[in-house]
Amino acid sequence: MSRVTSGGGWRAVLYTLKKAREVGGLWALWKAMRSKNACKTCAVGMGGQSGGMVNEAGHFPEVCKKSFQAMVADMQGGVKPEFFATYSVPQLRAFSPHQMEHSGRLVQPVVLEKGAQHYRPIEWADAMGRIAAKLKATKPDETFWYFSGRSSNEAGFLLQLFARLYGTNHVNNCSFYCHQASGVGLSSVIGTGAGTVKLEDMEHADIVFLIGGNPASNHPRLMRTLMTVRRRGGKVVVINPIIETGLVNFSVPSDPWALFFGAEIASTYVQPHVGGDLALMYGLMKRLRELQALAPRGNAAGEPVVDEDFLEHHATGWPELAARLESLSWDEIVAKSGVERAQIEAIAAQYAESKRAVFAWTMGVTHHLHGAATVQAIASLALMRRMVGRPGAGLQPIRGHSNIQGMGTVGVTPTLKKAIFDRLESHFGVTLPTTKGFDTLECLDAADEGKMRFGFCLGGNLYGASPDATFSRRAMGKIDTVVYMSTSLNTGHAWGTGSEETIILPVLARDEEPEPSTQESMFSYIRLSDGGRPRHVGPRSEVEIISDLAVRVLGEQTESAHSGRPPIDWRGMAHTSTIRTAISQLVPGLEEIASIDRTKKEFSIPGRALDKPSFPTPDGRATLLVHDLPAAPTGLQLMTIRSEGQFNTVVYEEEDLYRNQTRRDIVLIHPDDIRRLGLTPGGRCRIASAAGEMRGQIVAEFDQIRPGSVAMYYPESNILVPKSADPLSRTPAYKSIAVTLHPDAGQRSFVQPAPELIGAGTPRDKMNQCG
Ligand code: SF4
Repeated sequence: MSRVTSGGGWRAVLYTLKKAREVGGLWALWKAMRSKNACKTCAVGMGGQSGGMVNEAGHFPEVCKKSFQAMVADMQGGVKPEFFATYSVPQLRAFSPHQMEHSGRLVQPVVLEKGAQHYRPIEWADAMGRIAAKLKATKPDETFWYFSGRSSNEAGFLLQLFARLYGTNHVNNCSFYCHQASGVGLSSVIGTGAGTVKLEDMEHADIVFLIGGNPASNHPRLMRTLMTVRRRGGKVVVINPIIETGLVNFSVPSDPWALFFGAEIASTYVQPHVGGDLALMYGLMKRLRELQALAPRGNAAGEPVVDEDFLEHHATGWPELAARLESLSWDEIVAKSGVERAQIEAIAAQYAESKRAVFAWTMGVTHHLHGAATVQAIASLALMRRMVGRPGAGLQPIRGHSNIQGMGTVGVTPTLKKAIFDRLESHFGVTLPTTKGFDTLECLDAADEGKMRFGFCLGGNLYGASPDATFSRRAMGKIDTVVYMSTSLNTGHAWGTGSEETIILPVLARDEEPEPSTQESMFSYIRLSDGGRPRHVGPRSEVEIISDLAVRVLGEQTESAHSGRPPIDWRGMAHTSTIRTAISQLVPGLEEIASIDRTKKEFSIPGRALDKPSFPTPDGRATLLVHDLPAAPTGLQLMTIRSEGQFNTVVYEEEDLYRNQTRRDIVLIHPDDIRRLGLTPGGRCRIASAAGEMRGQIVAEFDQIRPGSVAMYYPESNILVPKSADPLSRTPAYKSIAVTLHPDAGQRSFVQPAPELIGAGTPRDKMNQCG
């Protein structure tokens, strides 16, 4: 393929037209995209009551290939009736993530029973009866409940409420595998785990630090914001071991000039070691102090380079951090960050002159054993110049799935926030369990120890997302019953199967729900999705399923201990408006959600965007923390990455356009390392880590990656990811994995599914199949 030199642009537009043909034409896709539903993909957030392709700042049309990919996947035909009879589970295990996704929409519950080789269709009543019977026969703390960020606030709230009243706190979500380090890191410094800015703050910044991420592929519409910053004369500092094409130049489809000529995004591009960000942050902080000493009267605008007055009155820990910066040598910083001192000084000089700085980061920061520490250091760097608590400046984790932040807000965490816990007990007159709730990895550890008998997955791909695929498979295989609520197939359905029974329940997509639902963007903006007509006969609404399950297990009602208080009406909880009323009374900041379906008024959660230097901590001050820097890498370091054609574990396209790759079984490696290791470009290699080994991978020459680092696609490469996790946040280290690489003659092979059984036709075809 010809080398792509710009992200987005005509290729994205042409892709959209091609996909439209596959799902019944451009008009059908346009109508679906413009419906009043929140985008199903990333947490930047689009759509809602403004209609699709409109962002929070009101820009239209915000065309985004990622959002089209998700929509097209939901518009595909149903899984053909003979599919499960044709393919055994061992055969499904040979399917790639892309092939699983393109097998069609799930339209009927299926079960895999002990000893069986095939899933088989069952009726809804049978499926629900089996699940309820298992729950009634199981101790609550031998069950766990895993949530993805795909589902609505209503489904998340209802399922966690049911799980707790059933008797367990083993409630967790996929953020434990991505941004938990952001939440923990931010909370420990400024008292809140959410970002402190709104989208418009980012647009008004005069410098944006983009650390460890590739939003050009994963959050495409953020590129317009970065383009706007550059056009106003602002700076964008990109910190990433890979030079990502779309972060250098992006052709913004909704901007005629940028569409034709592209827009420069990065004003400075830095390539640290994988995991070198913590040392780099310390280098920047150290240099700020040096600049302050050189210019005690401040920068060109007369603002202090280090705002000691602010630090004294609004933070604790500055003397300790200053002493640490004083004692830290430049040699150590340079060796451990992998960035030359002159470059650190140049970036610090830009930051020292800025008035409004936004620090944004993604999983290149969080996926390390020092992920939360790096977030703490980023926050300290911002606080040194008072860049938190003023408009147009702040801290922003760039989150993944469209409602992952909402899941945390409505209580999908092992430990409920005290305010929600207290309100739940007093409002409903119930007693909640106080036993320790396990995070995601702890649940799998418990399963591996034979202590879990039931696992329930509200969306997502727990097996696919987990580190150490060998361990994940083994752990899930020890659970008696595993239940999935899914729209389409993924590798978890083949590999993450239970020992007794695995049940897949087909669910409606967000824009097919019969009643409105809500989602929260990473900017803490609550959107209302109208729902819409189901594309298939068969799938059910998530809240209907959860309500049904609660009735079967707990009865129609859970009585309040307080006289005169109404009981929890589990059947009534099948209606999203009833759930929203409860959320509004129980979750601080979401009071307005009760009337959102009537007023249609979407809103920012109050208190999240910080424009005053007062922090939601007990004393209103931020806390600066001090760290040891992790050692510089000594051998090859693997970073798992996502491609332009995927979102989380879902692979929509095999090709990775912006990295000029056409397949996924590859190791991206610098030409210098290819020569040094005696590899052949295009040849096969064997790559091994402490967790596992992959053979027959193709050596992909890639001069955009820093020498000493190699990259492979997640989730396939999770075989190589050890399950060691950041001690502060429990986020697994999916990056900075020590690996060895050798030439290998071994071949990798897939059983290719018959084309006529996958990639089913249009929704109309599908209605015929299952109607
Ligand atoms: S940037 Fe994210 S929220 Fe916006 S349209 Fe694209 S995938 Fe959807």
